[in-house]
Amino acid sequence: MRPKAIGLLSGGLDSVLAIRMVVDQGVEVVALNIVLPFVGSRSERAEPAAEWLGVRLVKREVGRDYIEVLRNPRYGYGKGFNPCIDCRVYMLGLARRLMEQEGADFVVTGDVLKQRPKSQTQDALNIEDKCSGLKGLIVRPLSARCLARTVPEIEGILDRDRFLDLSGRNRKQQLELAAELGLTEYGTPAGGCPLTNREFAIKARTLFSSVQDISVNDLALLRQGRHFYAGGAHIIVGKSQRENESLLDLKEPDGDVELRVLDVGSPVTILRGAVTASTLLAAARLTAAYSDSRSDEVVDVWYSGSGLEGSIVVEQSAGEQAYAARLRIRT
Ligand code: SF4
Repeated sequence: MRPKAIGLLSGGLDSVLAIRMVVDQGVEVVALNIVLPFVGSRSERAEPAAEWLGVRLVKREVGRDYIEVLRNPRYGYGKGFNPCIDCRVYMLGLARRLMEQEGADFVVTGDVLKQRPKSQTQDALNIEDKCSGLKGLIVRPLSARCLARTVPEIEGILDRDRFLDLSGRNRKQQLELAAELGLTEYGTPAGGCPLTNREFAIKARTLFSSVQDISVNDLALLRQGRHFYAGGAHIIVGKSQRENESLLDLKEPDGDVELRVLDVGSPVTILRGAVTASTLLAAARLTAAYSDSRSDEVVDVWYSGSGLEGSIVVEQSAGEQAYAARLRIRT
């Protein structure tokens, strides 16, 4: 019987090359793409990558338990709000579960030793191996020859000499290998993880300090709009047509209130959390302030959701902009 592995596939170049090196040794690989709520296009790259590799693709969304990883990472954060070691342990845990379901023998990752300062040091890789329950079963083909032998290498399932000994941030060899293999479409390492981005990190930290019971949908909302917190409510105001549409897609039908100004160009606003007269008014004022109405215009802001429907008259003045500025999360 052919050996079988689970390959963590982000769609980035390193993960694609790593899986390819294992496929080339006759291993059946099931690619696992883990969908993070605040990452869009990166996840979409997994399909063409799996197709190019000729492997089956399984997608898994992170659950509520991932929120605890973000809130309280055992091994701390990187330069943003990125708890990379804990995040990797979480992902490897999902890979281990799929490995058990699929009856696979080991896991393959695109890790490159010392490529990332937080999660790819030797110590970090050791922690990830131990905490994921996969010690000896994580094969990292791009750096395998710099790392301890894994079980499939010891058992002769994999030929270690056909793997690489990459270490550090220089990507020259990966790019050469991709060109040699005719691989042209791929992402950058860690590219697209907004948790490493300073502005996004501020948004995420503010969410975690302002909202007690965070959902996966709350994390997805962080990618869209301007964010405000007032009176126990989280108010998100769309910045473009595309964001307005995304906000409507993410709107929770049971609890969220949607607002917009009628008759002029308007953002979609989502009011989530405590829906009271005062938070509804705050959301209406913000919607008016970011609409195409004149700054001294009286506007009707329509709202619907959470069992309510109606409109609020907002008398705008110069103070509205200052009000919006006071509530806005500075990024
Ligand atoms: S870069 Fe983002 S997705 Fe990757 S391990 Fe770090 S936190 Fe997780």
